Amino acid sequence: MSDVSIIELREYGDAAALDALRRCLEPLGGMQAFVRPGQKVLLKPNLLSGFAPDRAVTTHPSVVRAAALLVREAGGVVAIGDSPAVGTLDKVLKRTGVAEVIEEVGAAVADFEHTATFEDAGNRVARRIELAKAVADADVIITLPKLKTHVQMGFTGALKNQFGLILGAAKARCHFRFQDREWLAGLILEINRTAKPALAIMDAVVGMEGEGPSSGDPRAIGLLLASADLAAVDCLACHLIDLDPESLPLTRAAKRYGYGTTDLARIRVLGPDWKQFRVPDFKKVTQYISILRLLPMPDVLTRWMRRHIAPGPVIVADRCVKCEACAKGCPVQPPAIQPLEKPREQVDHHRCIRCYCCHEFCPVKAIELQPTWLHRLFRLNHLTDWVTRNLADLILIGRRRR
Ligand code: SF4
Ligand code: SF4
Repeated sequence: MSDVSIIELREYGDAAALDALRRCLEPLGGMQAFVRPGQKVLLKPNLLSGFAPDRAVTTHPSVVRAAALLVREAGGVVAIGDSPAVGTLDKVLKRTGVAEVIEEVGAAVADFEHTATFEDAGNRVARRIELAKAVADADVIITLPKLKTHVQMGFTGALKNQFGLILGAAKARCHFRFQDREWLAGLILEINRTAKPALAIMDAVVGMEGEGPSSGDPRAIGLLLASADLAAVDCLACHLIDLDPESLPLTRAAKRYGYGTTDLARIRVLGPDWKQFRVPDFKKVTQYISILRLLPMPDVLTRWMRRHIAPGPVIVADRCVKCEACAKGCPVQPPAIQPLEKPREQVDHHRCIRCYCCHEFCPVKAIELQPTWLHRLFRLNHLTDWVTRNLADLILIGRRRR
C-alpha cells in the first residue's frame, strides 16, 4: 500500500497554501521526514513557459513558496529550477511569479544550464542520461507538479514533471527521437528512476483541462496532494478527473517497471474523502499528437523524416565481439539489430526507433551512429534542433492568435 495525503485548498494565497501544505504533510511525517538539516534540496516546479500563474500552466508560486518555507523549517538548503520548454529560465521565473518566491525565501536558482551524466544499468531506453546539473547538486529532490491534461501523453503530473530535468535542446531531441508515446513514457520513467525524487507535492488547486499542457483552460479542483510514491499521486489525480490511468502510457510504463503504485485499490488516501473532489466532466484530450505530428504532414512522412534525419546505428565489424548485448537491449521486438547476421542485414532501419540503447549497451564501442545522407548533405543538426525547440513557441503563438 502507498499513502497519498490530500488537503482541501480552494484558493491560492500564501498563508492558506502554507497552512494547507503543512497539514497535508503531517500524516506523512512532516517535511522533516524527507529533509534532514543541512541537506541541499531541489524544488522542481512545472515551469513549462512564461505564463502568469492564473493561466494554470505552471505550478502556482504560493505552492512553491509553501514548499520552500517548509524545507527551510526542516533545515534544508533550497534551490528552485526547471528547464522550460519555451523561453529562458530567468524570464520564466519572473513571469510565473517564482522569481519573487526565490528572493523572499532566500533560495538559489538551481543549475539548469549545465548537465551531469547519470548511468543506471537497470534502464532500458536510456542507460546513460544527461540531466540538469541541479540533480547532481541536490541531496533531495522534491517535485512540484501541476495537474494538467497533455496533448501528447494524455496527462501530466508527478512522473511527467521530471521530463523538465532534461535541458532545452536535448528535450526537443528526445521528443524527436521518441515520437512513439510508449517510448517517451519509458524514457520519462527512467529519468525518474535516475533522479529519484523523494516527494511529490501536486498543485491541483486549479488544474488545466482540455488542450494542456499550455493551451487548455484552468479548472478548479481544490486540492493539494502529497506522497513519496509519484505514481500513486498520478493515479489518484487521474481518478479525481475521471481519467482511466491505465489509458496512459506513463502508467503502463510505471507498471512495467514496477515503479510505484498504479492501482487505486492499493492506495491509502489520508485526509478527507477524495471522492467529494471529483470533477468527472474535466475535459480530456480527445486526440493525441506527437511533437512532430504537430507539423501538418502524414505519418508516412514523419517516419521517413525519422529514418532520414536521425542517425542510424551501424555495427563496426572488426570491433564487434558478437556478445549480442545490443540485441538484448533493443526495446523493439524482435530486435531491430541482429549482430550475427551479414553486415548489410544487421540493422533493420525501418523498424529501428533511434533510441540508441544498442549504442549504450555495447561493451566494446562497436556501434557507431552514422549520420544520414541528408545530414551529411545539409548539416541538419542545427536545423532540427532549431525546429524542434521553436515548434512549441510557434504553436503557442498560433493558438493565441486564433
Ligand atoms: S537498433 Fe535501433 S531500436 Fe534497436 S536499440 Fe539500436 S537504436 Fe534502438
Ligand atoms: S553489443 Fe557490441 S560487441 Fe556485442 S554483439 Fe552488439 S555490436 Fe557486437
